[in-house]
Formats: sequence, structure tokens, C-alpha cells
Amino acid sequence: MLDIKYNLAKTHKEKPDQGKLGFGVYFTDNMFIIDHTEGIGWHDARIVPYAPLSIDPAAMVLHYAMESFEGMKAYRTPDGSIQLFRPDKNAERMINTNKRMCLPSLPVEDFVQAVQALVKAEADWVPSQEGTSLYIRPFVIATEPHLGVRPSKTHQFIIICSPVGAYYESGINPVKIFVEDEYTRACPGGTGFTKCGGNYAASLISQVKAHELGYEQTLWLDGVEHKYVEEVGSMNCFFKIGGTVYTAPCVGTVLPGVTRMSCIDLLRHWGIPVSEERLPIADIMKASREGKLEEVFGTGTAAVISPVGELRYEGEVAHINGGKIGEVTHKLYDTLTGIQWGKQPDELGWTVKVN
Ligand SMILES: *Cc1c(COP(=O)(O)O)cnc(C)c1O
Repeated sequence: MLDIKYNLAKTHKEKPDQGKLGFGVYFTDNMFIIDHTEGIGWHDARIVPYAPLSIDPAAMVLHYAMESFEGMKAYRTPDGSIQLFRPDKNAERMINTNKRMCLPSLPVEDFVQAVQALVKAEADWVPSQEGTSLYIRPFVIATEPHLGVRPSKTHQFIIICSPVGAYYESGINPVKIFVEDEYTRACPGGTGFTKCGGNYAASLISQVKAHELGYEQTLWLDGVEHKYVEEVGSMNCFFKIGGTVYTAPCVGTVLPGVTRMSCIDLLRHWGIPVSEERLPIADIMKASREGKLEEVFGTGTAAVISPVGELRYEGEVAHINGGKIGEVTHKLYDTLTGIQWGKQPDELGWTVKVN
């Protein structure tokens, strides 16, 4: 149990219009901070007014990207209560990330306690309009002022919150995806399975390239042969071919998404076969030519489920399901959002009340 001190903001920001929240634009009144010092461990847990951090210009995070993060949401249910979706999975994933990055971790219970405490303090900020939520961003930074490359002796774990809008304000429109055949996101032995800032910095160039070509996001191939599909931007990716749903295995180069895991559980529960075997992009394009590529979708906390309407690989374009959301994609979307927003019974015990 953390002993959290409260020094809450005395003045409150004006709440933004719930119909125009966007994503990650507005931030709440308070934030959670806990310090970590080598030899002492975690200390001084506190909830304090949201404000710029004061860190040394030599802080190691600024030079060597010694950082990790998580992304989760708090949802307003029809009875007005607030709930989280599988927060322990985010806590566990952050521990795995931090091990790889030589960063310290909070135990699962303390991570969840900190999230609960901050969301409770910011309860007014959890929006209620259809499809809106409070996005929660826990992160760890190395704060020691030091220009040599080695693990830092001091860190901070911080949580900030941002009210976010319905991802699909104008209905669920399938996205157009560019299959990246030049740049690499992750390699065996690398950091692909972690949520660390450096992974995203290194991926921007492909996003820019995709945008220039008129595509919204990049689908990454494996880093060794550029042959097997891995994931999309900040989403895992699923392909329904001839009745079976395929998604890349989480073997070190793919981020183990909580949404991915939940979709696999639901699909299997519904008796739909799921394969986590590696899937060559060539097989997907071939299935498309033969009319067997039934549905493609991405999964992630921000969008929940994002249908894909078009894939472009080496100049060939695959159109999926006439540019419309597929049946299984739609059912997953309805079920997951139903559970997350408390509109549907949570038979699998995935939600946790904030209290
Ligand atoms: C966060 C993230 C995902 C999705 O994970 P969720 O836990 O479902 O939000 C997928 N891929 C990458 C690269 C990510 O950063």
C-alpha cells in the first residue's frame, strides 16, 4: 500500500466541451508522482496540481530516452460510476517494459492503487457523453543528471489524465494502411514488446511516408525478412481469412496489447478459430486476390477496434470488405465497448470499479 499525500489544485480548469475533446489535448487539474532513489526505493507518493516538471537539463531521460509508459482508460457507466478495464494487465506490462529498459517498477497493487487514487481525485473529469473516456498515461522517467550511459540512480513514476473524445465522431470509418517494406520497427532481442518512447520516435518516419502517400497508418513487417506482418502504429492487427482470425504472435517484436488479448479471448469464447502463427504479407495479398480476405482490423486502447478498408503493399492495393466494417470486427467492437462502458454484463470479470 502506498501512503499517498494529497495537495490538490486549489483552482480548477474549465472543462472542455465533451463533443470536442479530441485525443490527448486537454489535461486534468492534478497528477500523481512518486520518486524512486537507488538504495531507498519508492518514496513520497503524492497527488499534486498538474504543472510543468522541473528536471535537470542533464536528466538521463532527455539524452538516452530512458523512459517507459502505459495507456489505459477510465469509463463512465450508465449509473454514473467509473470503471477501469483490466488495469492489472497494464501494471504487469509496465513491469516487463521496465525490466528491459533497466527502469524501476511499482508492484502491480501499487500501480493500480495510484491509478485508482488519481482517477478518484479527478472523477469530475471523466466525461459521460457517448464514446468519451478519461485516458490515463502512467510513465517512468530517469531523472538523474548524468551524461554517461548507464542505468539512472533516480526516477519518477508519474500519472497524468486526459479526457478524450469518441474515437469515431463521424461513425466507424475503415482506415487505409500502408505496408512498410523499407523501415523496421522491431527486431528479435530489441524493444518491440515494450512501451518505451524510443520505439515511437523511430517509427515516425514511416508514418510521415504513409501520410504522404495518402495512407493513415503503417503496418510493420518483421525486421529480419520483411516478410511477416507484425502490427500497426500503436495497434495490434488481425486478419480474417477463410473463417480463421490471424494475429501476429507476441514473441518479443510485437506489443502485447490488452485489447489484443481481450479480442482473442472473446473470439475463442465465440468458437471462432484464432491463429497466432506468423502470417506472411504475401499470403494476405494472395487471399485478397482470391476473395478470401474477409476482414482486417487493428486493436488498441485508444480506438478499441479500428476496421481496415485498404492495404497497400509494394504498389498492390487490397480492398477489404468493400470498405465497410466486417461482421466479426463489429461484434468485437460492440462487445468490448459494451463491457468497458458498463452497458453490457462483464461476464469475464474484466472491469474494476474506481472507489
Ligand atoms: C499500446 C500499443 C498497442 C495496443 O495495446 P493496448 O494495450 O491494446 O492499448 C499496440 N501496439 C503498440 C505498438 C502499442 O504501443
